[in-house]
Order: sequence, then structure tokens, then C-alpha cells
Amino acid sequence: MTIDVGRVRADTPGCEHVVHFNNAGSSLPPRQVTDAVVDHLRLEERTGGYEAAAAALDRSERAYDALAALVGADRDEIALVENATRAWDMAFYSLSWKPGDRILTSRAEYASNAIAFLQTARRHGVQVDVVPEDETGALSVDALRDMIDERVKLIAVTHVPTQGGLVNPAAGIGAVAREAGVTYLLDACQSIGQMRVDVREIGCDLLSATGRKFLRGPRGTGFLYCSRRVLDHLEPPFLDLHAATWTSADSYEVRGDARRFENWEGYVAGKIGLGVAADYALDLGIDAVEERVTGLAEALRGRLAALPGVTVHDRGARRCGIVTFTVDGHDSRDVAARLSAAKINVSVSAASSARWDFEARGLPSLVRSSVHYYNTEDELDRLCEALPGPVTTGA
Ligand SMILES: *Cc1c(COP(=O)(O)O)cnc(C)c1O
Repeated sequence: MTIDVGRVRADTPGCEHVVHFNNAGSSLPPRQVTDAVVDHLRLEERTGGYEAAAAALDRSERAYDALAALVGADRDEIALVENATRAWDMAFYSLSWKPGDRILTSRAEYASNAIAFLQTARRHGVQVDVVPEDETGALSVDALRDMIDERVKLIAVTHVPTQGGLVNPAAGIGAVAREAGVTYLLDACQSIGQMRVDVREIGCDLLSATGRKFLRGPRGTGFLYCSRRVLDHLEPPFLDLHAATWTSADSYEVRGDARRFENWEGYVAGKIGLGVAADYALDLGIDAVEERVTGLAEALRGRLAALPGVTVHDRGARRCGIVTFTVDGHDSRDVAARLSAAKINVSVSAASSARWDFEARGLPSLVRSSVHYYNTEDELDRLCEALPGPVTTGA
């Protein structure tokens, strides 16, 4: 299967208005997703929110099946929440800690995850250890294996960092976690929707992801996968009458499925849209998606690297659709603003989003150009042509 680029562009109204290379920020949604969201909002308008939810129950329930199919899980292992951070937090803050427990993590870690580690270290005397990298820049599975001891309670790793094309060896990490019997939480926020992410192949216990990035779902949506293996050991940090049942005056029972991580009130239209986005990805075929995204990103890296004064910063033996670069003599924010004026969307990655990585590599802010399968070679050329030239003196 290959992607029919004409068809996916015809499905994507935004393609007529912008060259969108901010898919790691928030993709252009296909009209199928937007229509599903708007249709549900219209139904709420006509009949009332509860009544609309009841009438559309099969559509919101479909989201669980579609996401389960996308990640190779069962539907009762999926929770729908507001975003990836809340999904990750609900998993992470369900763990219990004692002083001296260790968390093993990656240098590329996302700021919100690192902040939660630091908070937990302060509160509970937990030790946070960053696993070194191999020579390609990915987390070293050998180093991880060597760092395992009986104090390690959690391996929490980002699959694809927000700040570069690197893909961490999620399945290799999973093999170590399974061998050691350590809980494994994978931040798949940037990998979901652009590559195959199969929880059984990877061997993670918990996985968090967002709707709006490469999956092309609505904003304000995300999901958590929680393996049945660990579900019963995890009591969510917040419970409500959806996550648990008030069974007698002084008792409650937590739900027996992953929806214990949800709360009662939610964005029904968004859930429906998220399901449609997952189905859209499944229909295209995730391997075809990955092939096209990876191919376009490699083509872009090649073109950028050939431009004088442009440096590409992506690391890793395996790379994905996120391309990061700098232009000599130009602040990345100015580069992004210049592109934006030419109706080309990129974003800027700064140290505040992944401090451990930026500081260790001595990186300045980076222009992040993240491609999707609906982008074209012609759009890659337009990006390259719109970049400022290197700063020269006396010209
Ligand atoms: C964007 C991002 C998040 C946060 O996702 P939200 O949906 O904004 O909460 C987490 N991890 C990584 C690696 C990200 O890039």
C-alpha cells in the first residue's frame, strides 16, 4: 500500500491555504475529523448534550476500538483523556514511591515528564537517573540493562522526542523492562500517527499519546493505554464517580478497566473525532504512512544540508518525520517568522521543552519542520527557497 497523495490532500482543506510543517505541533486535520466533531456539536445544539451523547454512543465507543486497533491493544486497555500530558500524569502519579526508589529515563525527555520526576524526587526521595546514549544519540539499551537493580521502579522514556528526528528503541527498552519486571511507561506522543506503535511488540505497560499531532485528531484529546498486567496495581491519583463506584456509605470500588483513568465529564465531540482520526490512519495503513513520512523527512534533511549555512541536528540511527535545523547568523524564531510570512508553518524547539538534551548538546533554539504524508516534494522546495541565506559581510 502507498499513500494516494492527491486523495489525502483533497481530504485536507488546510493544504490549499498553508504549507504545513508543524505536524509535531498540531497537524492539519482531515475534513472527516472536523465534520465528525462539528456534526456532534450540532447534534448537541439541537437535542441537548446528554441526549446527543446517548444518540452517538456507538460513535464515541468506536474511538476505543479504533485506538486499540492502532496500538495493538484491547479496547478495555484504552482511556480517553484531554491530552497526552494528562494521560502520562494519570499513569505516573498512580505509582507509589519510597525513598531510594529509582526512575530510569532518557536524556531527550519532554519537559513536563522531567518536571514530574523532579517533583516526585523532592516529595518522596526518589532518584532519577538518565540513561546514557549510544553513539547514534538514541538511548543505549545496553546501558539501560546495566543500570537495572532492585531499586528501579520505573522505566519512563520518550519514544520520539519533541525536539528532533530521533526514534528511541522502544522495543529494546521493553525487553529489558520485561526481563527485569519493571513497569515501563512510554511517551508516544510524537510517534503515534506517524509510525507503527504496537504495545505488545514494544512490551510497555503504559503508553500516553495525544490526538492533535501526527494522528490528526482534534485538539483537547489524548489517550492512555494501560496493560491489563498492571491495571490492578495502579490506583489513579484522582477518582470520581466514573472512575470508581460509591458502593456503600464508606466504600468505593475502582473500575476494572482502563477507564479508571478517565473522568466523567469529557469532550464527546472530540472523542468521536479522535476515533475518526484513528480510523483514517488505519485505513491508509500505518506502514504506508511511516514510509512516506520518513521518506519526505530524509529528502528534506538532504536538501537542507546542501544549503550553505544550514545545519541539520537530528540524531539517531532510525529517524522519523521531525526535522530540526539552524541557519547560521539567524535566530530560529526569526527564521520561523520569515517562513510564516510566506505561509509556511514550522515551529521552534527551545531548551525549555527538553533541557537535559539541549544543555548536553549545547544546542541553541532549533527550527522544527515536521512533515506529514500530505506534504509534497514541491513544498519541501518552497521551504528551502524561503529560508534566509547565510549572513555574509561586505556583500
Ligand atoms: C507534545 C508532547 C507531549 C505533550 O502532549 P500534550 O497533548 O500537549 O499534553 C508529551 N510528550 C512529548 C514528547 C510531546 O512532544
